[in-house]
Amino acid sequence: MKRILIRFNEKQVSEPIATEVLIEHKVPAAILSAHINSKGGEIIAEIPDESLDKIVEAFRKRGVLVTVPKLIDVDSEKCFSCGACVALCPVEAISIDNDYTVQFDKEKCVGSTCSICVDACPVRAIKSIKPNGGNHALNSKVKKI
Ligand code: SF4
Ligand code: SF4
Repeated sequence: MKRILIRFNEKQVSEPIATEVLIEHKVPAAILSAHINSKGGEIIAEIPDESLDKIVEAFRKRGVLVTVPKLIDVDSEKCFSCGACVALCPVEAISIDNDYTVQFDKEKCVGSTCSICVDACPVRAIKSIKPNGGNHALNSKVKKI
């Protein structure tokens, strides 16, 4: 499964775009979180690997912004590679390289719904990022609606 952040603008949010896309392509997406109001909205969803490209393309054709969300941020200056976070991550999103650098896989991390590593880090090197915080590692914007 791949995690994506789908961001709707004020005009798009009143339309059933997500439903249309998922039904049209018969994709069983898991909605992990949804923050929606009259000014816009953001949905974090998990999409099966094999359906990712067509779903992203379908949203983009409708002018919807799709990104891969970065849900945690790590201060490499503070991290001293103790490994406490690695063992606790329930989805194996954290690993330690041969050079003892800690790596986080943003496509696996479930973010603020978990935050185990944030609490476990003895030097507070890890922070949760809210989906609407605008801090995303990969941005791909398509025009229009
Ligand atoms: S927030 Fe949870 S899922 Fe994400 S890296 Fe930390 S422990 Fe793993
Ligand atoms: S718990 Fe903190 S200090 Fe230890 S490896 Fe993880 S990020 Fe680095």
